[in-house]
Amino acid sequence: MKVIDLRSDTVTKPTEGMRAVMAAADVGDDVYGEDPTVNRLEATLAERLGKEAAVYVATGTQSNLIGLMSHCERGDEYIVGQQAHTYKYEGGGAAVLGSIQPQPIDNEADGTLDLGRVAAAIKPDDSHFARTRLFALENTHGGKVLPMPYLKDAAALARAKGLGLHLDGARLYNAVVAQRVNVREITDAFDTVSICLSKGLGAPVGSVLVGPKALLAKARRWRKVLGGGMRQAGVMAAAGLYALDHHVDRLAEDHDNARLLAQKLAAIPGVSVDPAAVQTNMVFLSVAPELGPALKAWLQERGMMISLGPVIRLVTHLDVSRDDVTAFADAVGKFVQQTAPAGQRAGAIV
Ligand SMILES: *Cc1c(COP(=O)(O)O)cnc(C)c1O
Repeated sequence: MKVIDLRSDTVTKPTEGMRAVMAAADVGDDVYGEDPTVNRLEATLAERLGKEAAVYVATGTQSNLIGLMSHCERGDEYIVGQQAHTYKYEGGGAAVLGSIQPQPIDNEADGTLDLGRVAAAIKPDDSHFARTRLFALENTHGGKVLPMPYLKDAAALARAKGLGLHLDGARLYNAVVAQRVNVREITDAFDTVSICLSKGLGAPVGSVLVGPKALLAKARRWRKVLGGGMRQAGVMAAAGLYALDHHVDRLAEDHDNARLLAQKLAAIPGVSVDPAAVQTNMVFLSVAPELGPALKAWLQERGMMISLGPVIRLVTHLDVSRDDVTAFADAVGKFVQQTAPAGQRAGAIV
């Protein structure tokens, strides 16, 4: 039975072509700067994203953390979304390991932070306050693409206030493909950008931080301090290079599949999905909370995997085909059918 795993785009497995380039990768000791494949990956992304330098790291969490630690010193502060990965989903690393204070601001429905509220949160130069140094955004955020004019306004604010601007671009290329822009139209707004190779791009491991040379020299040092200096990492970096050459344009398929999935689910009574809200590879499905565990079990029996939450996030990716999303929606439809006539019995299903 083929598994259809919609929990995340991190679950992709390396393709045959990707495994072949990994096996054949030219490698060296990257802590000595001698891994030609890592060097090529770093140079490629620095060039494509229009930045002076890049550093290859194990994870997006590490990439964001060394980015924050390179912008900020002990006692500094970064302004960040209340729902941002760099605030909410990274174990408080900036505070724990960087002595950097987060200043969270509620995310707007479109994933942005209101720039008036950001400006109001910037602290005066006064010993009572942490020093506000950095503004961090995320694109895509919850599958939503930050509007291009917003990026320009955010950059203008950061510049006017002397703040650095960091992008958690874990899914940067989903934003690029969805908007049909050149990646630099997004990255030009930012000083530093973190990009994940292990999400929709389909590499098994790895992220890259790009930015100005001086800042990236600090980042490279923090990578080592955090235990992230890797040796013959070219075996993995080769997968990243392969992904950049083969798996960027195809993100459009994931977006098409997400739209199709949302349309099919929206046609099922008793579940709630907004197809108009789908911009990239994420669909948000709501069911009556008491039905969640039964739905998850029903799908599991059919080789389909979801993560339960207040809303169910479904993510399309390299290992999910058009037929898979149709099969998934059909399975949800059948689940609803077999529970609906026994609506009175719903309590028993839990
Ligand atoms: C996945 C993700 C990261 C990094 O996660 P890792 O699992 O550490 O690679 C960072 N930001 C966002 C928005 C993500 O989705």
